[in-house]
Amino acid sequence: MAAKDALSDYRRKRDFSKTREPKGHAARSKGPAPTFVVQIHDASTLHFDFRLEVDGVLKSWAVPKGPSGDPHDKRLAMPTEDHPLAYSDFEGVISEGEYGAGTVIVWDTGTYRSLATDHHGHEIPFAEALDHGHASFWLEGTKLHGGYALTRIRTSADGDREAWLLVKQDDRHASAHSATEPTRARSSLSGRTLKQVADEAAGKTP
Ligand code: MN
Repeated sequence: MAAKDALSDYRRKRDFSKTREPKGHAARSKGPAPTFVVQIHDASTLHFDFRLEVDGVLKSWAVPKGPSGDPHDKRLAMPTEDHPLAYSDFEGVISEGEYGAGTVIVWDTGTYRSLATDHHGHEIPFAEALDHGHASFWLEGTKLHGGYALTRIRTSADGDREAWLLVKQDDRHASAHSATEPTRARSSLSGRTLKQVADEAAGKTP
């Protein structure tokens, strides 16, 4: 089970009377396999949010360029606060003035399995691998498939300036053709673009 305060940072940053984001709580997995979600977030800087279910919460990284299918691409991933599992199907508009203000779509979602091992190749718990700064995993999404690894490249005492890399592993799902144009990308849940979600929230009809 996750610690009781696993989501305290998440809650402290938000006013739930003003945002429609889920308040959520640390919870047990909904299915037999842990989930992952990649959201596109058109905030002050447009970025992807990469989230993996670990111990009842979504461990989260902001990935400015988004995941790549090309094993040569090393994508910077900056840790952000743990999010509730209910966040995995959140898309909509976070109001101006609120934390993370801007439009969110679910770009991809699915399940993953841990490929985490120690230096001798023995399986270790995924949370332990993250603590050690290197965790690999296999994604089964609607867009993303195959092995990926997250590796910590910079630590900091308060965690605020910690940096990781998200890299595709070289397997049959690797591809040099994985450029994602976020403004044209469509939600894997609703098929909508960022603009369509924003327009609907503003009450505009297409
Ligand atoms: Mn974000």
